[in-house]
Amino acid sequence: VEANVELLEDEPQYKEFAIEEFLVRSEPYYRPVSDELELFQAAYEQHIPVLLKGPTGCGKTRFVEYMACEVRVPLVTIACHEDLTASDLVGRYLLDAQGTRWIDGPMTRAVKAGAILYLDEVVEARKDTTVLIHPLTDHRRILPVENTGNIIEADDRFLLCISYNPHYQSALKDLKHSTRQRFISIEFDYPPIDVETEIVAKESGCNEEQAYALARLGDKIRNLREHGLAEGASTRLLIYAGRLMTHGIAPRRACQVAIVWTLSDEPELQRSIEEVVHSIF
Ligand code: ADP
Repeated sequence: VEANVELLEDEPQYKEFAIEEFLVRSEPYYRPVSDELELFQAAYEQHIPVLLKGPTGCGKTRFVEYMACEVRVPLVTIACHEDLTASDLVGRYLLDAQGTRWIDGPMTRAVKAGAILYLDEVVEARKDTTVLIHPLTDHRRILPVENTGNIIEADDRFLLCISYNPHYQSALKDLKHSTRQRFISIEFDYPPIDVETEIVAKESGCNEEQAYALARLGDKIRNLREHGLAEGASTRLLIYAGRLMTHGIAPRRACQVAIVWTLSDEPELQRSIEEVVHSIF
C-alpha cells in the first residue's frame, strides 16, 4: 500500500485538480460523538459505500482521515466542484516528448490501490461523474474506463465515501435517489456543548474556560438560523477564534474576525451575532 502511495504523490499532473492524496501516517485527533466509528468500520468491512451528511466544518473530513488511518489504507480526497468531470477522475491521455500516454486519474488509482476515495461535496461535480459511481457502488465494484476500454475491478480494500451538505442543496443540485440509495448515510451535526468544548480546547490550544465559552457561543449562534443566517458558526470557526485568542487577540476581536464577519455581510445580522458574542465575552 505504501509503495502505491509514493507513486501517487509523484504524479504532479494531477495536483492541478485540487486533489490531495495520502496515506494517513499518524493518527489524527478525532473525538467520536456517537457510534460513527463502529458504523464506518462495519460498512468498510462489508464493502458498503458511505455517505456523510452534515453542515460545513462539523468534522466529516477529519472523521474520514481518522478512519483511513484506523483501517490502514490510503485516503484519496477530492474536493468536488462544478468543473470536475469524469475524465478528471478517471484519467486521460497526455501528450509529451515520448508521444501520448495514458495517465490514471485519482479515482482509478484509488480503485487499483485499495484506498478510501472521499468525494467531498459530491453534488457539486458534473453529472457525468454519476456514471462512475454506480458500477463502483454495487456488487460489481468495477470502474469502466471509457477511453481505454478497460474495466478495472476494485481492490478488496477500496471504499467509496461521499459527503454532502443538505443545507446547500437546491432542487437542481440534489443527490438523485438512484445514487444516494447506494450508500448508508451517517448524519453529522455540530457536537453537543461539552464535546465541542473538548474539541475546541484540543484543536486551538485555548484554555478550558475559553473553549467552553466558544462552544456556548456556537450553540447560541446556531439558534439564530431562523433569523436569516444561512449556516451557523462551524466548529472550525470556533477553533479559529480560539487560536487567535491563544495568540493574545482579545476575545471579542477574535470572535468578530473569526465568526461575525465570516458568517454574514449584512450589518443587521452582524449586529445580532455581535450581541450574542458580547453576552458571552
Ligand atoms: P467538514 O469536513 O465537515 O467540513 P472538518 O472535518 O474539516 O469539517 O472539520 C473542521 C475542523 O473541526 C477540523 O479540522 C477539526 O479541527 C475540528 N473538528 C470537528 N469535529 C471534530 C471531532 N469530532 N474531533 C476532532 N476534531 C473535530
